[in-house]
Amino acid sequence: MERPPLTVLETDVLIVGAGGAGMSAAIAAAEAGKQVMMTDRSLIGRGGATIMAQMTVAVALGEQEPDDWRFHYADTLAAGRGLCSEPLARLLCEEGVAAIRKMDEWGVGWARADGHLTQAHAPGHDRPRCVYVDFLDTGPAVATTLRTQVAKDKRIRRIGDLLIVDLLLHAGRVVGAVALHLASGQPVLIRAAATIIATGGLTRLYRRNSASVNMGGDGYALALRAGARLIDMEFVQFFPIGHLAPRLVGFDPIMWDPFRYKLGGRLLNGRGEEFVESYGHQAESGGYTVTRDAATYAILKEVEAGRGTPAGGAYLSFRHVPEARLREAFGPIIDRLAANGIDLTQTMIEVAPTAHYHMGGIRVDADMATDVPGLFAAGEAVGGANGANRLSGNAITEALTFGAVAGRSAAALAPQGDGVADDDLPDDVPDMAALTALAEPIVDWLRASAPAGAVPVAEMIVALQDVMQNDVGPFRNEAGLHRAADAIKALRARLGDALPGDTGPQDPVRVDGLDLRNMLMVAEAVVIAATARTESRGAHQRDDHPGMLDEWTVNQTLAWQGGQWTLVVQPVERLPASSIDLAVEAHA
Ligand SMILES: Cc1cc2nc3c(=O)[nH]c(=O)nc-3n(C[C@H](O)[C@H](O)[C@H](O)COP(=O)(O)OP(=O)(O)OC[C@H]3O[C@@H](n4cnc5c(N)ncnc54)[C@H](O)[C@@H]3O)c2cc1C
Repeated sequence: MERPPLTVLETDVLIVGAGGAGMSAAIAAAEAGKQVMMTDRSLIGRGGATIMAQMTVAVALGEQEPDDWRFHYADTLAAGRGLCSEPLARLLCEEGVAAIRKMDEWGVGWARADGHLTQAHAPGHDRPRCVYVDFLDTGPAVATTLRTQVAKDKRIRRIGDLLIVDLLLHAGRVVGAVALHLASGQPVLIRAAATIIATGGLTRLYRRNSASVNMGGDGYALALRAGARLIDMEFVQFFPIGHLAPRLVGFDPIMWDPFRYKLGGRLLNGRGEEFVESYGHQAESGGYTVTRDAATYAILKEVEAGRGTPAGGAYLSFRHVPEARLREAFGPIIDRLAANGIDLTQTMIEVAPTAHYHMGGIRVDADMATDVPGLFAAGEAVGGANGANRLSGNAITEALTFGAVAGRSAAALAPQGDGVADDDLPDDVPDMAALTALAEPIVDWLRASAPAGAVPVAEMIVALQDVMQNDVGPFRNEAGLHRAADAIKALRARLGDALPGDTGPQDPVRVDGLDLRNMLMVAEAVVIAATARTESRGAHQRDDHPGMLDEWTVNQTLAWQGGQWTLVVQPVERLPASSIDLAVEAHA
């Protein structure tokens, strides 16, 4: 049968993933005068974590109380338990101020009171610092605002339904990508002078997660296969109070957090007792001070000790809060809760840790450049800024800030003209004929069909999620990590080399097959890094190696070459102590 001709596209800057980071990158690269192609395996601006975020964005605006980005930076480093890349943390906190102001100018609608932006006090921050859009609308408002800006710029071409399968390398440089167009089932070849990975995190690797199905860590696998290094892969953040019970339809599982900020919901064990102070933290009654890693630890230890709730978590109670205050803080949400049969004056909510964010990711410098020429990364896909534990609200700031930097850096590498003609391109980007030849193996792989049902990929994804949840979750030990490594190897052998499924349009088996290929690779990276780190720090808790060790105040990077992993321990990137004066005055 004759094959349809290969669809071939070209651009100055290719962006993989259209969440907060990808859209910010697109806007910045287009502002620098470049042609941008923004791709997403889902709908543009609707496929990842950004649109799901319901809560807060941390930034030292000094609107609620005097503040300075340096205080935010100090808090970020403290939460990161010694492992933050200081240049990246600085970028997040310092540049975040302008990024959040710009969103305000673009009409995002940050909540205001008495003529200033409202800033909530979240755990780990030394003062009220987190802006938000009421009620639970932060992520949707951020995504809508960016989508509107993107749509205004004719230099940005938006292509949804396009799953980037692999990056193309020529003379050690990334020069484009091969994608699968999901609607048609056809491969697509893209030539690009610069590529930005903005694919978000990996929390779909876990059975209990707050993610969308697009968050299986594709970007990490793309980066690894292109020769880039990953950093801090062992640090997966579990959000301590993900919703567990009673049944709740139409809400995000992490929706309770902003109401804890506002009202000080009480965390109780199955016996109705407050417990975080018995894990060495200050009592929280009516407040909210314990960081995510510490709260996750305390809840799971209570469950392990037989003091959990019936569904296996802890209670979150607002029963001490007067009804009028509940109504004021929850606004219209209170009626939606009532429709789910939840009356907070009577009902306690059961909550438990859920995989939520990844502190690790692609290793970049402060220009968002990876080790591989032509390849940049941004947003949650980047590792290192948040060290071993992320503060509430830092992730949206990270996505917007790192996205803009990556967009500018990629634009600087792209051709000087305003087109993508062969003679405009940097010398090391091949012409289209050479690129097509380069892409042939992966295009052929995508065009071959394997017998349907031969490999139960959907089932295997669930099996992998179980393995990760049980043995590579918030508590780890050597035996469990070895079990996980063996299970991953067995699943990989079972998947084999051929891509399962049909070559027709919208074949879910084919997509699951591509996802599983990436998820196995990324899961293995997490397991290797977690096995090597023989201490407990932040989000990485080892039952067999309790306590944080000075000699482990180092980062681990992972590379994958010729089918082999290379793990390297390296010093944490520090800024000269004199470069940041932490004794500054806070300002409004
Ligand atoms: C439920 C939830 C609530 C959250 N709440 C908050 C909060 O209140 N405050 C905060 O700071 N942070 C919050 N976070 C974290 C924060 O939302 C994310 O870290 C941040 O939005 C990540 O942005 P991003 O642009 O890097 O990635 P994403 O927004 O996840 O976007 C990645 C995009 O890449 C696409 N993609 C993936 N793989 C491919 C591929 N192979 N080809 C093409 N496209 C691909 C996806 O479809 C997706 O659209 C929350 C996260 C979740 C899940």
